[in-house]
Amino acid sequence: MSALFHRSCNATLPWADQGEGCYIIDRNGKRYLDACGGAAVSCLGHSDETVKAAIREQLEKLPFAHTGFFTTEAAESFADALAAHAPKGLDRVYPVSGGSEAVEAALKLARQYFLERGEPKRHRFIARRQSYHGNTLGALSTGGNAWRREPFAPLMIETSHISPCYEYRGREEGETPEVYGLRVADELEAELQRLGPETVIAFVAEPVVGATLGAVPSVPGYFKRVREICDRHGILLILDEVMCGMGRTGTLFACEQEGVVPDIATIAKGLGAGYQPVGAMLCSAQIHDTIAGGSGFFQHGHTYIGHPMAMAAAGAVLGRLTDGDVLPGVLSAGATLKGRLTDEFGQHPNVGDIRGRGLFQGVELVQDRETKAPFDPSLKLHKRVKSAAMEAGLMCYPMGGTIDGRQGDHILLAPPFIVTEDQVDELVGKLSTAL
Ligand code: PMP
Repeated sequence: MSALFHRSCNATLPWADQGEGCYIIDRNGKRYLDACGGAAVSCLGHSDETVKAAIREQLEKLPFAHTGFFTTEAAESFADALAAHAPKGLDRVYPVSGGSEAVEAALKLARQYFLERGEPKRHRFIARRQSYHGNTLGALSTGGNAWRREPFAPLMIETSHISPCYEYRGREEGETPEVYGLRVADELEAELQRLGPETVIAFVAEPVVGATLGAVPSVPGYFKRVREICDRHGILLILDEVMCGMGRTGTLFACEQEGVVPDIATIAKGLGAGYQPVGAMLCSAQIHDTIAGGSGFFQHGHTYIGHPMAMAAAGAVLGRLTDGDVLPGVLSAGATLKGRLTDEFGQHPNVGDIRGRGLFQGVELVQDRETKAPFDPSLKLHKRVKSAAMEAGLMCYPMGGTIDGRQGDHILLAPPFIVTEDQVDELVGKLSTAL
């Protein structure tokens, strides 16, 4: 029996020993092709020399300085570089240790912003069903993943949930994607009217839904309409790019492809690329200035914010991602991956949909392609696919979301950006064996 809590609940985990490009090698020498970056984390593979050198250099110079006492070159230059590459309007950077913490910071910043403006009645959030925003209590309150929320109800922050923009299951026959997008975005307007818009702080959404649905992008026009509705009622738009951000979809921020800029954005995972646990919240200068010119103190802050080692890693990762060919490479490798998935599984009787952007692709498994009926949840198909894939030497990220209260099975693919065409072939071949 292992003393390691998470392993004692999952005794069959292999022991990872080494990283080499797109592979993790276990202590028996078995090689696993990393087709999901763990959970869309390892965007530069497992042995990036630039990031490793930046961490080593920072370690030798200064491993830690508390932000209550000092600022550091690592944190300052990271924040300047991120703000320079972020969509215009996301001007200030608040570094944190990971995704859930970035979401917590975003929720608290939004609440504090309205308090400082003398609008204490605003206390609610609206988010979407089948979304995941993290596992700490505030983030869990916001997420719309019923089976994760229910054991902890009543939750801390009042959030109501509207439909996600999920074309494969939501668009009606004969409806164009554009009309569908506007119809589903207008659920936000209806929900605001039901709650009273003056009681709402923000709408929270992932531009491309990751963990719960398997890389579901919205249809064109959806987020523009959402932005319009938020502006009309003076509520904030918070976009959670913890999974889909940092180049995963082919642009540094996924929202760049929607033509909207949120008031607050969250990133993590790919930001540290697995080399350090790190995340960030970004916000507009206006939100920052309201607090700076008001109480002067954002009521957040954990011991490890702006940790120099994490900042050195994030700065180096950002440098790699914004250097020349990397992001165009994500788009072309993503097109290759989608093409190969479509060749292999496009006619598969149990594959209902293949969707995604860049190197963020999802495969939805169904019992019947015609009716789109999901598999019986008691089969736990996604878990069986994961085990079969690991057996075949492939890491993919299958999950069971809920579709109208029933389980649906999806496989998320998010390989490192350095994946080669041969490795894409290997990935699809192994996935086929696993399925
Ligand atoms: N938001 C989104 C969109 C996520 O996908 C995740 C993690 N899957 C989180 C927040 C939470 O991130 P972390 O696990 O780093 O706390």
